[in-house]
Amino acid sequence: MALVNEHFLKLQNNYLFADISKKVDAFKAAHPRDKIIRLGIGDVTQPLPEAVRTAMHRAVDEMGDRDTFRGYGPYQGYPFLIDAIIGNDFAPRGIAIEPDEVFISDGAKCDTGNIGDILGCANSIGVTDPVYPVYIDTNVMAGRAGNFEAGRWNGIEYISCTAENNFIPALPSRKVDILYLCYPNNPTGTTLSRDELKKWVDYALENDVLIMYDAAYEAYIQDADVPHSIYEIEGAKKVAIEFRSFSKTAGFTGVRCGYNIVPKELNGSTLEGCSVSLNTLWGRRFTTKFNGTSYITQRGAEAVYSPEGKQEVKALIDYYMTNAAIMRRGLIECGFDVYGGENAPYIWLKTPGGMSSWEFFEKLLNEAKLVGTPGVGFGPSGEGYLRLTAFGDRNETLEAVERLSVL
Ligand code: PLP
Repeated sequence: MALVNEHFLKLQNNYLFADISKKVDAFKAAHPRDKIIRLGIGDVTQPLPEAVRTAMHRAVDEMGDRDTFRGYGPYQGYPFLIDAIIGNDFAPRGIAIEPDEVFISDGAKCDTGNIGDILGCANSIGVTDPVYPVYIDTNVMAGRAGNFEAGRWNGIEYISCTAENNFIPALPSRKVDILYLCYPNNPTGTTLSRDELKKWVDYALENDVLIMYDAAYEAYIQDADVPHSIYEIEGAKKVAIEFRSFSKTAGFTGVRCGYNIVPKELNGSTLEGCSVSLNTLWGRRFTTKFNGTSYITQRGAEAVYSPEGKQEVKALIDYYMTNAAIMRRGLIECGFDVYGGENAPYIWLKTPGGMSSWEFFEKLLNEAKLVGTPGVGFGPSGEGYLRLTAFGDRNETLEAVERLSVL
């Protein structure tokens, strides 16, 4: 019989969204007439921009014509999309990225998980806590997380981010080889200023740390002092891989397209101390395990950067950020301690009266028929918080605030 990867068996305690679903289903069965508003899972609700749809329709037609049909594309992505990314996301910020440093993929979840393939199992891992669970679970699968004891993995350094430290992570207290940073942050909706991010890049340069920088929510940044890319910080190309996604930017959660930047200056090491290019290893991994994002999808992503696409994407972001502002204002007026929601589509709410995350989840469900995500599901420092998303429909968002005000 084939042996299984036993690290997977350790994952059994992570059922956050399944647990939420079960509780919501039980509530629905008991109260079939009640209208539940779901502000839990971070999926978008507004349709794909017209510019994207038009480009995809055109690409479909090309695929139906013998003269313009395309089979396998370039592994790392079509030059038209890579050029649009460099020309729009990096060059205007003074960041020089070369085409072969860009890898077009089917999304940031896959990328942040798959990148572990090129990294040794003995690396120590650091995460800010609370955390997007994919960073933890994929390291558990690879055997880098150790064992789960008292609510945390003993092989992972958790860097606590709470209201007490203004959600600004302190430098790790023990040596880590790989550090995950996600800004704007899921789940807290908070950001780092340029100076704070510089502190991390300098730390990584001094201590030989590889930073995985997840900027999936970059498009939501409103403040001028919040960096959009880690490469805005000097030296970052020597220490960081950056992940981007069209999911939350342009409604691609169901279409699937993202990209990552692996600079050629970035090196890892063998056990013997030989330096190895991570760009080369990742390229090798890409060509072996991936046959490229579909042409139709890449044409859709390219249209995000067209003048019409930019306008429509801005309108989408404005729509969700208006939801966030409505929620923030309403919740603050009700006396809640509210964080995030200013440069990110997530609101991070302190539970009132010392309630646990799950107690408050139940109270919201039962009394307001509102579904949030218990903060503790994102890690131990999430206890006592709850996440609400701004990705809902406007009317439902307004109704949710109304319901919270009479809680
Ligand atoms: N990174 C973060 C921090 C996320 O919150 C999400 C989705 O919720 C993703 C990545 C996934 O992005 P994608 O849809 O591109 O896989």
